[in-house]
Amino acid sequence: MSTVIKGISASPGIKIGKAHLYLGSNIVIPRYKINKNDIERELARFDAALEKTKKEINGIQQQIADSLSKDLANIFSSHLMVLEDPLIAEQAREKIKNEKRNVEWILNDISLELINSMSSIEDEYLKEKIIDLSDIHKRLINNLLMTDTTDLSSLDTEAIIFAPDLTPSDTAVMNKKFVLAFVTDKGGRTSHTAIMARALEIPAIVGTFTGTSKVKNGDTVIVDAYHGKVIIKPSKEEIIHYQNFQKEFILLDKHLAELKHLPSMTLDDVEISILGNLELPEEKKIMKEHGAQGIGLYRSEFLFLDKSLPDEEIQLNSYREVVEFFKPAPVTIRTLDIGGDKIYAYSNLYKERNPFLGCRAIRFCMQNSALFKTQLRAILRASNYGNVKIMFPMISSVEELIDARTILKTTMNELKKEGIPFNEDIPVGIMIEVPSAAIDSDHLSKHCDFFSVGTNDLVQYTLAVDRINESISSLYNPLNHAVLKLLKIIVDNSNKYSVPLSICGEIAGEPVYTMLLMGLGYRNFSMSSNLMHPIKRIIRSVTIKECEELASELLKLENSKTIRKKLVSYMNTKFPNIFV
Ligand code: PEP
Ligand code: MG
Repeated sequence: MSTVIKGISASPGIKIGKAHLYLGSNIVIPRYKINKNDIERELARFDAALEKTKKEINGIQQQIADSLSKDLANIFSSHLMVLEDPLIAEQAREKIKNEKRNVEWILNDISLELINSMSSIEDEYLKEKIIDLSDIHKRLINNLLMTDTTDLSSLDTEAIIFAPDLTPSDTAVMNKKFVLAFVTDKGGRTSHTAIMARALEIPAIVGTFTGTSKVKNGDTVIVDAYHGKVIIKPSKEEIIHYQNFQKEFILLDKHLAELKHLPSMTLDDVEISILGNLELPEEKKIMKEHGAQGIGLYRSEFLFLDKSLPDEEIQLNSYREVVEFFKPAPVTIRTLDIGGDKIYAYSNLYKERNPFLGCRAIRFCMQNSALFKTQLRAILRASNYGNVKIMFPMISSVEELIDARTILKTTMNELKKEGIPFNEDIPVGIMIEVPSAAIDSDHLSKHCDFFSVGTNDLVQYTLAVDRINESISSLYNPLNHAVLKLLKIIVDNSNKYSVPLSICGEIAGEPVYTMLLMGLGYRNFSMSSNLMHPIKRIIRSVTIKECEELASELLKLENSKTIRKKLVSYMNTKFPNIFV
């Protein structure tokens, strides 16, 4: 008998394959005393784990350098430095001998002690060091416990990954060639894992709660990421049914791909631009192949994935690569949006009670101005090589925008003094993703050159529904009247004050919302590559009048349930081949 589990479709597709259970860093530290006679054995375990960990990191580094980029690979150099630090290894050996406790326990204590004692120090270098330590100790402990530490970079056969959750570095190092799909217990449609899956065009289902406890390594599994359904140990009939389904989708995809060179224009000749949301520079080719007319959101967080901060040159190269590739089309680089679910190198240092309401995005950058200025310098320098726009995330007030712009201005002046060329008229825009920014978009319009609506956050902050919490995902509803009202306010202010507007939240890349958004007045859509073709198909099949009528009908309805029902049935009837 097969077992069916349900989750949230995060990235579409159907895959049939073998399960690979990956528990990541969810480990329990064993604590026990050892005898005098066991000391040598414990030291030998430590040495063996040390060696193994070094080899692993060298291997990962090589693999990333070959398959992704040297910049990303360099992130792991600092890990090796930590492992080779004689002071730390010596301290561990001494403690094993003197305190006669098992090595996992000792390593965990050393790591915690260092983090606690040094986390208040305002020294960027030391901070990086601490983070390296904690990460490396996790890896060492995994090796001591001999759990399946093989991170996803060492996959060598095709598999469907089941994990409690995937961190950004899990997804960055995973050997994508062998990852058929992934299924996670946690997360929602707009969690970073889900966004990454779409960026990498890997079918994914998130928020299954129980996926990892229901599946065993090697089980045959069907992932239907159109309907958020996972079938564990399917019957022969189920496999045949889904194989046929897969064939139909491949045909549909081919058919839709024929649209890619045609203009993105409605039947009544209104141009709707399709831009890309870029997670990694490596995606640039696939974006262009899908017809992206530029990049509406270049999430720069990938550069800050791990422990050491990227310097100006590393950042410049990553931005320049994309900017030159798309030139003369625009590339909108968003400054670092760390915090919330995008917890990277600083996660141990910045544990907050309410991370989504905490020191996130522009707030983090304003408090870490050296880091912010380095990024601004790199973006400004990249503007010398093509059409670059700067975008600040999570602006919640006019004052905040003015402050951010002051730092930008200072950075520009410094570059000018140094004689370094950049575009002095670089457009500066903001993400509208906090209700206050939407409501106050009239005032904000006077201080920036463009708006981009981030509905992933706008929905979460408007409805007070955590975007990554699977247990309340049914409350995360972009069709709530409050959200629709805010979306309309933004369009109205953008038109009234002539501020160019785009939308880059995930709903911009979901076909079911396309007509509604066009009806509300949106004309520029930024999305991940995998749904650009179906969206263009919709754009080319409708008139603006039709969209406006649909939007106005929907806005008259009583509540979001009825809105959804009507919208889904309308879109299903009009585009029976796109919706499944
Ligand atoms: C958003 O909030 O809609 C957005 C595009 O930004 P992110 O998903 O990166 O927070
Ligand atoms: Mg956001």
